[in-house]
Amino acid sequence: MKTFEFIRAADLKGAIEGAARAKTAQQGADVRFVAGGTTLIDLMKLNVETPAHVIDINRLPLDKVETTPDGGLRIGATVRNSDLAHHPIVKQDYAVLSEALLSGASTQLRNMATTAGNLLQRTRCMYFRETAMPCNKRKPGSGCPAIAGSNRMLAILGASEHCIATNPSDMCVAMAALEATIHVQGPKGSRAIPIAGFHLLPGDTPQRETVLEPGDLITHVTLPAPISGSRQVYLKLRDRASYEFALASAAVVIKIAGGNVINARIALGGVGTKPWRSPAAEAVLLSQPATPANFRKAAEAALRDAKAQSENGFKIELAKRCLAHALQMAAKG
Ligand SMILES: Cc1cc2nc3c(=O)[nH]c(=O)nc-3n(C[C@H](O)[C@H](O)[C@H](O)COP(=O)(O)OP(=O)(O)OC[C@H]3O[C@@H](n4cnc5c(N)ncnc54)[C@H](O)[C@@H]3O)c2cc1C
Ligand code: SF4
Repeated sequence: MKTFEFIRAADLKGAIEGAARAKTAQQGADVRFVAGGTTLIDLMKLNVETPAHVIDINRLPLDKVETTPDGGLRIGATVRNSDLAHHPIVKQDYAVLSEALLSGASTQLRNMATTAGNLLQRTRCMYFRETAMPCNKRKPGSGCPAIAGSNRMLAILGASEHCIATNPSDMCVAMAALEATIHVQGPKGSRAIPIAGFHLLPGDTPQRETVLEPGDLITHVTLPAPISGSRQVYLKLRDRASYEFALASAAVVIKIAGGNVINARIALGGVGTKPWRSPAAEAVLLSQPATPANFRKAAEAALRDAKAQSENGFKIELAKRCLAHALQMAAKG
């Protein structure tokens, strides 16, 4: 591991001023914030991340979950995944988020992992984590061995010729279906970013994963007021029942009245290069009877643009079944 300066920020201003030293928001960044450390420290040990300055943000007052005046929820950046999953309001009104969080990692990891850290966790593509191998995301221009290599876990939606890595987060999939907004403070001031525009497709710059600028600190995430009477499900399919990333997952928030779907928000995980909201699936369902046949049609629409790699063609049907089943679970209440 490379030597680095460790700074413990006492307040928001100190954290942002410290980070103003950042040279780039991409791989090899000069400055990194550390929260739970369950992604960052791992990658520093592997020499995948090599910051010269690490700013500990655990003492900042960002660990609260509070209701907002408009009936929504404000989640501090350093709220632990366990605390968020078990928060009474989250369990009651944002069950899809609670289920997604509890499906991730292990109890010990969830006790450390934070909201902002989860939003920024890096891909689990094995080549990204192995510095002896080329990887466009880690070392732009070096190539993508996954395309002709081991890609069983990798993406079938949103890939490019430069990178086919999956976004591994469960929490982000639920947040995509809940239409979360990410709030950031940085050297250029504050801004609010809808989650749909937060993560970037790899395109020809796979090293750039989000719209964050150098030195930007995520302060909190807001969720809009829950849709009254909606039914929510997070379904995750994986190689083993726990402590495993998704092969395919689905976050579903639907409202059914008189047998028809009157509101639908759908996102997929484990299959996209970013948390994958599916307006196409939502459009298929809207104003239609909540039937298994229509759920299957929605799943077909969600995966219409899917493109298999050499080892992961099975994911297309798996993701369809995952979404159709999640919709049926939600419809049954
Ligand atoms: C063995 C293992 C299994 C896992 N399984 C799953 C799983 O099944 N599902 C799943 O979703 N996740 C899984 N994870 C990932 C885990 O959820 C993430 O590692 C965790 O959420 C990251 O949070 P953290 O607080 O530890 O982040 P850190 O490691 O502290 O930070 C991660 C990144 O976020 C940046 N950062 C942190 N906070 C801020 C902030 N406020 N503003 C700006 N930048 C910030 C850091 O600089 C760093 O780049 C697993 C992890 C491990 C190690
Ligand atoms: S898929 Fe992306 S992360 Fe994996 S080797 Fe290719 S460029 Fe690197």
